[in-house]
Amino acid sequence: MTGNDKAKIASFLDLAGDYLDGGFKKPHQDCIFPDDFEIPVTNSEKKSEIDASDDSLEKIAGEIAGCTQCSLCETRTHTVPGEGVTSPLVMVIGEGPGEDEDLSGRPFVGRAGQLLDRMLDSKGKMGLSRKTNCYIANVLKCRPPGNRNPQMEEIISCIPFLVRQIKILRPKAILAAGNTAVKTLLDSTEGITRLRGKFTFFTGTSLMNSIFNIPLLPTFHPSALLRDESLKAPVWEDMKTLRSRLCELDGEFAKTMSDIPL
Ligand code: URA
Repeated sequence: MTGNDKAKIASFLDLAGDYLDGGFKKPHQDCIFPDDFEIPVTNSEKKSEIDASDDSLEKIAGEIAGCTQCSLCETRTHTVPGEGVTSPLVMVIGEGPGEDEDLSGRPFVGRAGQLLDRMLDSKGKMGLSRKTNCYIANVLKCRPPGNRNPQMEEIISCIPFLVRQIKILRPKAILAAGNTAVKTLLDSTEGITRLRGKFTFFTGTSLMNSIFNIPLLPTFHPSALLRDESLKAPVWEDMKTLRSRLCELDGEFAKTMSDIPL
């Protein structure tokens, strides 16, 4: 936004304030606002931006455990940083812990989580699991009370943890499950129904300036499938899309899958 635009908004707000405050225009000091500017990113900054060598999953989990950045810390039982292998083929990102996850401190362990595990394995046809080649995490690390939708300020407080996890894990692909994960990671206002099933790239998020280039596939959240069986068919299509992209990205995975027909 230009400085001029900001000055116009400021003078409009002054005028609105005067109107509410008795209806007479008062004298106001003119303010000069700077234009927005982009900080140029040099190659060495780019390199350091993706360098996570002095960070670790344990350090992040410790910080999450002590986090009081938003009010969810007052109602949580446990924080839920995430779990899985440390060099994952796929990082699955959901919304936030539910009751079972809050009680156990582990992601996706309730009914939706069990369905997610079945989706990832798909009777051996997908060959994915948190024990062998996936990492499972959420946008939020604490449960919103009563499983209400996450609020923007909670997402803003929490997203740096997820971004640091992605930097360390460097997954070959991200499976973003549900609206919150997709909208947050893609900075998109489009809903999951329009975005699902098509690979795009996770390049970072405006909520935290970071540089990435990771293929990201949006799909429906498993709890949506539990509510609506008709979503099973599109999700199976998405899983097949994921499998074929992973085969392109990882020779070992392609070899393992070559004997397993879809
Ligand atoms: N739903 C999510 O989005 N994440 C969990 O960990 C559990 C349910």
